[in-house]
Parts: sequence; structure tokens; C-alpha cells
Amino acid sequence: MDERAMRAVRKERPEPGAVLSRLPVPEPGPGEVRVRVAAASVCGTDVSVWHWNEWAARRVRPPLTLGHECAGTVEAVGAGVDPRRVGERVAVETHVVCGRCLACRTGDGHACANVRILGLDRDGAFADRLVVPATNAWPVPDGVPWHVAALLESFGNAVHTALAQPLTARTVLITGAGPTGLGAAAVARAAGAASVVVVESSPERRALALRMGADAALAPDEADAGAVRAAAGEASGVDVALEMSGSPDALRLCLAAVRSAGRVAVLGLAPTAAAVDWAEGVVMRGVAVQGVTGRRLWQTWLDATRLVARGLVDLSPLVTHRFPLEEVERAIETAAGGHAGKVLVEIGGGSP
Ligand code: NAD
Ligand code: ZN
Repeated sequence: MDERAMRAVRKERPEPGAVLSRLPVPEPGPGEVRVRVAAASVCGTDVSVWHWNEWAARRVRPPLTLGHECAGTVEAVGAGVDPRRVGERVAVETHVVCGRCLACRTGDGHACANVRILGLDRDGAFADRLVVPATNAWPVPDGVPWHVAALLESFGNAVHTALAQPLTARTVLITGAGPTGLGAAAVARAAGAASVVVVESSPERRALALRMGADAALAPDEADAGAVRAAAGEASGVDVALEMSGSPDALRLCLAAVRSAGRVAVLGLAPTAAAVDWAEGVVMRGVAVQGVTGRRLWQTWLDATRLVARGLVDLSPLVTHRFPLEEVERAIETAAGGHAGKVLVEIGGGSP
């Protein structure tokens, strides 16, 4: 291969689909690194951008390289970056934060007011090479294989949401067993939850939830608040509910199943405003509701890396499909089907 050219999955125009193109290898600017991408995983956002749904059409301005969740090796550094980082194995934080807004300056960079996101606002990871700020390249120990390292970004959403709550000896409900809910089930188990109940529509994903550490996995039509409380073994309600489906019905189930003075963390993005009985369901019962976005910089990354590197969580069962970069469209459609675990795009990885 010409070392000055690389493959990249490009959305050239504001329309569905993308093409595998050849582009010049990008040079890292000051404070940046260039990563040789080993593996990337597919996120629901990539599916939305590929299919060009209403949200994507409003949000994204082509031309752009798609993809964001990835891991690889630092192969070049820009001015001001420690040259010893060349050769480092890294996973990539996909939120490029400004460092100047109030959230950034007060230690809450995950909620940056000026965030720019790989694969949405700047060139992404479905490519042989990717340039990111050096701080976005998070070092990964040698023992973590590429297929797990590539998952750290999305697993970080699960870790951030789950570990924002006390979980040890607590009863936990998770609605939605997509990759995020599945990761959260494993974290809750690792954190010593008393019981972990998952509610999920897909039978394949319910089976995966049990493999990842859930005690029970219920279909939404059999999961009213009473059934959840019974499955959790706590008649007064679960201590903690994590909403990870984006379904308004699931959010209402979380609020109905949680005990008084319990906690509900919401990561799922409902497409429309969800009606909730705030007065009786939340306020008078003293329920704490928390919205969760992204990953804490860098505490979540440290926690997520330790969970996988020290064997506290095994993410391998989550990877149900693998495709080479040339078959990225099949990867997208497999993820879009809603029954897979995590779909991996193998780019330049090899082993490990
Ligand atoms: P996903 O779409 O793969 O998983 C959602 C799951 O919820 C699916 O398996 C679906 O079958 C299930 N589901 C649908 N309706 C349900 C219901 N009524 N009850 C129970 N389960 C139901 O998504 P994911 O990648 O795991 O992400 C989970 C959610 O988090 C999505 O809404 C996504 O948009 C959102 N998200 C938010 C952030 C953030 O920073 N806040 C980051 C990533 C993803
Ligand atoms: Zn900021």
C-alpha cells in the first residue's frame, strides 16, 4: 500500500450511504497524535448517520469520515506531544472537548458546551488512520486485545452511568440490553449488586444479558413494576434503575419500579419528549433522577480499563459479529438489525 494514502469510509454528500475512498494520510497538528486504527466498533449513531435519518440530516455536514469507537497504535505525534508515545496502544475518547468552557474548567469535561465528536463533527475511525488530540488517545495495557480495546468508549457510557450510583448490595433494574445495557449489567455484577434485572425486547439480547451477569431478563410485555420488583427480590422496589433503551415506556417503568428515595439514571435518548408523572412519581417519592452523557474525563476511562484489564468484566461475549473494512455496510446493517451484540470492523489489527 502507498504509505501516503489510506482507506476511509466517506459520507460525501447529505444522503444515505457512504463510500470506501482513498484519502491522503492525515498529519497530526500541534498537540495531536495519528493513530493506526486496529479495530472500530459500530454504534447506533453510526447507523443513524449511515441511514441519514432526520437527526443526522440536521446534525452532520458532509464530507466526513464515519465511525468513532476505536483502538489502535500511535504512529506519529504533532508538535508538543511526547515522541515516546509513538508505538503506544490506545483506545480513543470520541468527544473532543474545548478545555475552556465552565464545565471543562470545573472538572466536568464530559459535559463540554463546545464538544466536537469524531464521525459527526470531524473525521472519524472507519479508516486506516485517525488524527485526534493527544489527550483523547487513552493508553491501553498490552493484555487487553484490540476487540475489547475498541469497545472501551461505548463500555465507558455503561461504566459512567452505573458507577455514578452506589451498587454494592443494591437491587438494580436495567431497561434496554443493547451494548450499553449489557455492559452495565456486567458492571453491576462486578460491583457486587444484590440482584440485576434486565428488561429487553430482543430474545437474543435477553440471553446475552444473562451471560453478562444479569439474574433475570424479562420481555417488556411481561415486565410491569410488580414483576420487576419480584424478579429483584425486593417488594418495596429496586434501589437503582438505569434507563438504557431510549424508550419512554422503559423510562416510566424505571420510575414505577424504583423504591421511594431510590435513584434513576437515564442514558437512553428518547426520540420524543416522554411524559412522566413528576409530582407523584418523582417529587413526592424523593426519587433522584440523573441524566448521563458520555464518559467522565478521565475517571471513567481509568475505571473501564481496570474493569477489563483486571478481569472484573469480560466484554468478549459482547462481540457477536466481525467484518473487514471493505464490508462496513454489512457491519452497519447487522448493527441496525437490533439483535447483535457489538459489531466490530477489523481494520489493521491482527493479533492481539
Ligand atoms: P441500542 O439501541 O442498541 O439498545 C437499546 C435496546 O433497548 C435495544 O436492544 C431494544 O430492543 C431495547 N428496547 C427498546 N424498547 C424497549 C423497552 N420498552 N423496554 C426495554 N428494552 C427496550 O442502544 P445502545 O447503543 O445500547 O444505547 C442505549 C441508549 O443510550 C440509546 O438510546 C442511545 O441513543 C443512548 N446513548 C446515549 C449516550 C449518552 O451519552 N447519553 C451515549 C450512547 C448511547
Ligand atoms: Zn468545554
